[in-house]
Amino acid sequence: MAACLYDHFARRAPSPGKVFIETPEGRKVTYGDLAAGSARIANVLADRGVVAGDRVAVQVDKSPDAILLYLACLRAGAVFLPLNTAYTPAEIEYFLGDARPRVFVCEPQNRDKLQAVAMGAGVSHVETLGVREDGSLLEAARAAPEIFEDVVRGPDDLAAILYTSGTTGRSKGAMLSHDNLASNALTLADYWRFTQDDVLIHALPIYHTHGLFVAMNTMLLAGGSMFFLPKLDPDLMLQLMGRGATAMMGVPTFYTRLLQHPGLTREATKNMRLFVSGSAPLLAETHREWTQRTGHAILERYGMTETNMNTSNPYEGDRVPGAVGFPLPGISVRITNPETAAILPQGEIGMIEVKGPNVFKGYWNMPEKTAAEFRSDGFFITGDLGKIDSRGYVSIVGRDKDLVITGGFNVYPIEVETEIDALPSVIESAVVGVPHPDFGEGVTALIVARKGADIGERQVIAALETRLAKFKLPKRVFFVDELPRNAMGKVQKAAIRATYSDLYKKS
Ligand code: AMP
Repeated sequence: MAACLYDHFARRAPSPGKVFIETPEGRKVTYGDLAAGSARIANVLADRGVVAGDRVAVQVDKSPDAILLYLACLRAGAVFLPLNTAYTPAEIEYFLGDARPRVFVCEPQNRDKLQAVAMGAGVSHVETLGVREDGSLLEAARAAPEIFEDVVRGPDDLAAILYTSGTTGRSKGAMLSHDNLASNALTLADYWRFTQDDVLIHALPIYHTHGLFVAMNTMLLAGGSMFFLPKLDPDLMLQLMGRGATAMMGVPTFYTRLLQHPGLTREATKNMRLFVSGSAPLLAETHREWTQRTGHAILERYGMTETNMNTSNPYEGDRVPGAVGFPLPGISVRITNPETAAILPQGEIGMIEVKGPNVFKGYWNMPEKTAAEFRSDGFFITGDLGKIDSRGYVSIVGRDKDLVITGGFNVYPIEVETEIDALPSVIESAVVGVPHPDFGEGVTALIVARKGADIGERQVIAALETRLAKFKLPKRVFFVDELPRNAMGKVQKAAIRATYSDLYKKS
């Protein structure tokens, strides 16, 4: 069996005239364009000296051409290394110095400030790629042949390195092989029933596992099409739902924002067959509201940069609010005691560990960190805390480092957040532990209240007193307009901890 991820795409490609990507400006890129365009760029990369295993680092805005570049890297045997468009030159310097790519591709307008950074990091070629089909890379590609002899790669060879969005310490480069990506995309296309008839609304960034691998690879394998949006745009998304879209993949923020739109109705979503959510916890409340408004149950799944997707709610059967579903076929999930590594009985909360063809090859240049995150029997320690119920549904309770230890007692933030979120005046909340002179850490809550709600710190604590053990009660409660989130909708708990770090300091 051909092992290179691109071979899988090519073998399943529908007729060359079929549209793969359509942009809001009306640009259409067909499967034939994908083959020809990626061959042209692969020729340019080879011409720049890229050989099997070389990294190609890319910091560009979302465009169909960025996808051609991704495919070109696969075909040239290179390791695709996408970088968050929000990274500053100082951050880029770290990534380039760590990954040592042969080629760095950036936005035309960033060339001046990044050229020296790249050269300093030993990158031999800097190219540009803009969103208007412009830049030096495409210019060179136009003159290159539209056939390319793909470099042969094996299943364990690297296809991509994605730096994790670590909020503490240095970002780690997760090394993903051709088989990691191909096996997961094949599984997802099948599990979620994607076919050539599907048209996906794609409004996610493409430097992250969700938009690039879960959405893009799955659609390429299914031979479907995508509406390609630069970002979340509820008006446009609702229009597209009436213009042939059949599915959407999003982070929870997509769903909460769409729920605020009066146009979200059963009628507006009647042609959609699937809504998928992941990358951050979807509130059970959002799940229920969505079902009430549209008649569709959101399918929540769970994964991470290092492992691709691990679990999913079923396509048929109960999609349980607040749960991330069952282990995907071929993937094992277990819950262990974080300290002793002992496997815990069903129902108990502990560390989520996973094993399967989806799990990455380790962190680039960090053998000790890699070794520390795998058990001797090959299970990867995700850092997420969770449990498995009697029906086999996995649910996530928080991150290992989110656990608050106060006066020697463990408090899982999600437990407190769930109680706070159940108060009628509350939209959502985030609970963290910050240093406390007496308790080690003090449970601290941030709340986003409904507009005009008459609610204060004392009322919240009083309401929780009947629901939670005393040690779990927030010592302080703050009201904010919104929780700090990153582009993937993840609440930035490290940022909250930093903001409130002096809160309980004795003066
Ligand atoms: P990333 O590597 O950026 O994709 O982040 C992965 C992390 O996002 C996981 O380790 C989880 O902590 C979190 N995550 C992903 N999907 C979900 C989900 N459905 N519910 C809760 N947390 C999730």
